[in-house]
Amino acid sequence: MTSKTSVPREKASEINRGRHEYNCSVCLHAQREEIERDFVNWVSPATTAKQYKLANRASVYRHAHAFSLFAKRQRNVRAALEKIIERAGEVEVTAPAVVAAVQAYSKINAAGQWVDRSEHVNLNELFERMTMQELEAYAQSGTLPAWFTATVGATASDSQKE
Ligand SMILES: [Zn+2]
Repeated sequence: MTSKTSVPREKASEINRGRHEYNCSVCLHAQREEIERDFVNWVSPATTAKQYKLANRASVYRHAHAFSLFAKRQRNVRAALEKIIERAGEVEVTAPAVVAAVQAYSKINAAGQWVDRSEHVNLNELFERMTMQELEAYAQSGTLPAWFTATVGATASDSQKE
């Protein structure tokens, strides 16, 4: 083990990757790209393993580790939130969970960074007043109902006067 410390880091990871590929059912899989895309889009690895007939979800996780897909998936947090918001109409998701997801979604940019746009407006309250259709429209296209933007605009300028 200690004799390997002199190997340059890049070389070492190449060796590890080669070893990984030799044993990995995802690397050898004809639909490898789809499997990787699903992982980054927060599809549950258990579901992926079943769908692509892999041994188990550990195969997906091992492959994801070898190719640094975890970091990629973390940056793609919007996809996870979209799933929650999308499912709101189908399964029993509690209203506060949907509101929290929509609110988080509205604050996370495409790079997965949290951007707090407004500290003065109580967005929670506004999102709670939105109907399911309005929430869905917002989740899909980012369009807010007119009354919402009017309220935010008014409150924002009010707070500036203080
Ligand atoms: Zn692999």
